[in-house]
Amino acid sequence: MDHPVGLSWGLAPEPIGPYRGPGATSGIPALRDGPFRRNRSAFRVEIGNWGWSWPKFTPNSTVQEALKENKIGADLRKAITEKEERLMRIGMLIEMHALSNNSVTIDDRYRDQLGNYRPVITFMLSDHEKRGLKAARSFCVQMFDVAGIIDKTDYTEKRNVQGFLVFEDEELWWQGAGHYAGTHLMATNSEDSVVDASQRSHEHKNLFLTGCGSMPSMGTSNPTLTAAALAVWAAENIANDLNNIKS
Ligand SMILES: Cc1cc2nc3c(=O)[nH]c(=O)nc-3n(C[C@H](O)[C@H](O)[C@H](O)COP(=O)(O)OP(=O)(O)OC[C@H]3O[C@@H](n4cnc5c(N)ncnc54)[C@H](O)[C@@H]3O)c2cc1C
Repeated sequence: MDHPVGLSWGLAPEPIGPYRGPGATSGIPALRDGPFRRNRSAFRVEIGNWGWSWPKFTPNSTVQEALKENKIGADLRKAITEKEERLMRIGMLIEMHALSNNSVTIDDRYRDQLGNYRPVITFMLSDHEKRGLKAARSFCVQMFDVAGIIDKTDYTEKRNVQGFLVFEDEELWWQGAGHYAGTHLMATNSEDSVVDASQRSHEHKNLFLTGCGSMPSMGTSNPTLTAAALAVWAAENIANDLNNIKS
């Protein structure tokens, strides 16, 4: 599992000081829950801080564009500064259901040069996530409008790229967030999962598996703090086991 992330980008009406500090300095987490989740996935809004580097490879692409216009010296610096300091980018992280078709497996047809199996990954969105992605994009359009940001989002050059889709007549584009999860799934029984809530293997009682692999799916948030909490929880369970053996 992972959760899809969509991007919106625009030009702010005034300099907003991008590229200073980490890749994301703030966000809007208030949209992550509500009755609407019956109809569509929730999303989290990440306010990006590195210009359009993700969707458009700025600042490099800005320099290339200015050079194509034969700008050099002070003109070049001015062209880069004027554009770069107004770049706004939003990441829309979409909650993902535990879809049973999404899997990592092996297949005799796919091996590396040493003959080892390569992972065969299947990852698709259902209409529920697509509706969430569409709602997130619509939110960005409204937010840009209110903030006076000129929406420059354009998925035309993504049309032949994985993640591009047309949903309910709207062009959308998503990528994996790199927040990989699943495989040693956590659930109540060994029929459809590997570990129980204490992170203990159903089949081998002295084996614990921790990390994002225990998560059957991915909410709107980045997973590492939850994975760390699961690891601490597993450690407590192991310690309890050892104490019980001693006593
Ligand atoms: C580009 C990127 C940005 C990210 N940013 C964030 C972020 O901002 N916030 C956040 O919360 N999360 C973020 N993540 C996600 C985060 O990195 C992962 O969720 C987290 O590392 C998962 O931890 P894990 O222990 O489950 O798995 P991993 O960190 O992948 O650890 C699994 C380990 O198992 C080892 N391993 C695999 N197979 C074997 C084997 N057969 N034998 C022995 N060892 C093996 C691997 O080498 C690896 O060290 C990001 C991920 C990426 C890729």
